[in-house]
Amino acid sequence: MQAPERIDNDTAQGRLRLHWAEAVVTFSHVTLREACRCAACQFKRHHGTPINVAADVRVTTIEPAGYGVQLVFSDGHARGIYPWAYLAELAATAAAG
Ligand SMILES: [Zn+2]
Repeated sequence: MQAPERIDNDTAQGRLRLHWAEAVVTFSHVTLREACRCAACQFKRHHGTPINVAADVRVTTIEPAGYGVQLVFSDGHARGIYPWAYLAELAATAAAG
């Protein structure tokens, strides 16, 4: 899975848009925060603990992480790495749902 050609972060609307050659996909920041795969969130998910995400949570920083991006959220959550393949999978799931 290649990196998108461009990433737009719309903090006003709370949306992150990834421009791949084949497709452009848009995620809400809330969706991304809920889909975090850091160890702490995985642990909560595994134990059925709800991950409380504020409706106004925002992606504040996007750090390159080689095979994906590390997203820093306005609630202080900054451990989640989102591989491109995972984001493509999320987009497909959202489209299917
Ligand atoms: Zn997390």
